[in-house]
Amino acid sequence: MDFKDKVVVVTGAARGIGKQIAYSFAKRKAKVVLFDLDQAQLEAAKKELSGITESQSYSIDVTNYQQLSNVIDKVIDKFLKIDILVNNAGITKDNLALRLSETDWDKVLEVNLKGTFLTSKAVLKRMLKQRSGKIINISSIIGIIGNFGQSNYAASKAGLIGLTKSLSKEVGARGINVNAVAPGYIKTKMTDVLPDKVKEEMLKRIPLKRFGSTEDVANAVLFLSSQLADYITGQVVVVDGGMI
Ligand code: NDP
Repeated sequence: MDFKDKVVVVTGAARGIGKQIAYSFAKRKAKVVLFDLDQAQLEAAKKELSGITESQSYSIDVTNYQQLSNVIDKVIDKFLKIDILVNNAGITKDNLALRLSETDWDKVLEVNLKGTFLTSKAVLKRMLKQRSGKIINISSIIGIIGNFGQSNYAASKAGLIGLTKSLSKEVGARGINVNAVAPGYIKTKMTDVLPDKVKEEMLKRIPLKRFGSTEDVANAVLFLSSQLADYITGQVVVVDGGMI
């Protein structure tokens, strides 16, 4: 798979799955634009891409439309187009529903769901003019099956699936594909914090008998972003080792 001359924007790209997605595109010759909150981590991630491909990084909050809009203008000034957007930035603030604060409910919905809507809106303006583009939203199996202590996260990730399907209907006629990837248990900082007992129980429920890697998720994103997936839109690709 070759992404030569393609311009890819990845949110939450300073670490974990987003960083791997950016790296996987870079290895396949795409020009990569990294968005993340953390300036220091972003610089480190960008450094790893130097020598592999042309890249840019922006310290930006996906919940701030004004920031997004300004930065997207800068990306277009530099690269003239955006071919692929990967909405990966996401957070968790877990608690049982009865103990969950309104603040933690709002924050998770704001970053995971509204952030994806706002970033897509800012990028779609350009893609609609180009009459081409691919948007990949990183959802989660938790958005499909729900989870104890994750009502806010599950609602945000289920919402992303509805957003994906709706957007795919709105922009399909302009040559833009919108799909989602729903990872299962992937080894990153987000899951490192889980107790060993929880990890052992999860492993028992995975038919492929291993946790996923960030590369497993990136591979699905590459496929959906490629010409091989030109006739696929409004879909959710589950990457979970068979767990659900
Ligand atoms: P990480 O927490 O390792 O990385 C998430 C990145 O998103 C961080 O760099 C974080 O920045 C950034 N981010 C958070 N909030 C914002 C914001 N408002 N604006 C811009 N960037 C932001 O997560 P993972 O790599 O594990 O997960 C990536 C995505 O995959 C998430 O959407 C997650 O929900 C999803 N996912 C992960 C699974 C897993 O098992 N790991 C399973 C299923 C889905 P900072 O460090 O500054 O907070």
